[in-house]
Amino acid sequence: MTRYDLIIIGGGPAGITAGIYAVRQKLNSLLIAKEFGGQMARKAVAIENYPGFEEVSGLELSRKFEKHLRKQKIAIERDSATKIRKVGSTFYITTGSKHKFSARTVIVASGADPRPLEVPGEKEFIGRGVSYCTTCDAPMFAGKTVAVVGGGNAGFEAAIALSNWAKRIYVLEYSSKVGADEINQELVKKTKKVQIFTNTSLRKIEGEKFVNSIVYQDRKTGKEKTLPLEGVFVEIGNVPATGFVKDLVEFNEKDEIRIDPKTNMTKTSGLFVAGDVTDLRWKQIIVAAGEGCKAALSVYSYLRNSRRPVKQYE
Ligand SMILES: Cc1cc2nc3c(=O)[nH]c(=O)nc-3n(C[C@H](O)[C@H](O)[C@H](O)COP(=O)(O)OP(=O)(O)OC[C@H]3O[C@@H](n4cnc5c(N)ncnc54)[C@H](O)[C@@H]3O)c2cc1C
Repeated sequence: MTRYDLIIIGGGPAGITAGIYAVRQKLNSLLIAKEFGGQMARKAVAIENYPGFEEVSGLELSRKFEKHLRKQKIAIERDSATKIRKVGSTFYITTGSKHKFSARTVIVASGADPRPLEVPGEKEFIGRGVSYCTTCDAPMFAGKTVAVVGGGNAGFEAAIALSNWAKRIYVLEYSSKVGADEINQELVKKTKKVQIFTNTSLRKIEGEKFVNSIVYQDRKTGKEKTLPLEGVFVEIGNVPATGFVKDLVEFNEKDEIRIDPKTNMTKTSGLFVAGDVTDLRWKQIIVAAGEGCKAALSVYSYLRNSRRPVKQYE
């Protein structure tokens, strides 16, 4: 089995940037990713805050990141890491398709997955009306009625993107006020297709072969109501993707991995983390890319000084 200098887990901005920097440091590296682009690829509308691109779709920016990575001398596995173990000074990684890889260091850049609703019908109707990716699935709802669950920026951006396809869009917000920025609220108003329900709690998703209605509770009156519709887009935030690395790291109260912010190292020597999966406060593409760069440079420094490892977090 090849023992790599570095294995990177994740194909979002953090993982890809770590990959580009690792190759430039001449580290023999492998990048394992379920897919490329991460949350960027799932983003519903344009990205307007990544320098050099005044306006770019998440999908286009993802493709540019991936193309840049593929120009490097780095091994790539399209797979899912399911377990990391450390034996002596070597890390062993097992994947969903039961492949095993080993390395002297690891960067976990697995980002975050959409937070599920956890209501009856959600799991059953994934791919049959329930979606977590507007960019991917909006065109399938042309001329249909859909609900977006979540009244923050992500929910409003999903509603704006869906307005190019769907006939009618309901936005369901749990609290008494939506949390989206003014600019998104104005854009939603302009579509004239969106109806917003505040103080609502989604109770179940119903259907036969495909979704045909949802049941929600009006939190003011306590009454349950049914809305006939064909699609449900879930936009209630994210959860860090950390299941495969639980035993080797420590978490904060949001289940984010604690790191030394100077080096990105975790409590396990040689195990580094970057991007949205960390306990760093700001979750943005440029931050994730910067953290991926920092982690790769820290790995280089760690391997070069492996008798004098970089300091762990306090
Ligand atoms: C709706 C929405 C809109 C946003 N808009 C903006 C914006 O306009 N501007 C901005 O700067 N930021 C925006 N963000 C935030 C930005 O997308 C994230 O901060 C950024 O994508 C984080 O990058 P990351 O590489 O840490 O993680 P992710 O982008 O989450 O990438 C993680 C990668 O790891 C892979 N992965 C996960 N687990 C495993 C595993 N076990 N094995 C292998 N691979 C795995 C995933 O498939 C994915 O490829 C937005 C986010 C959302 C959800």
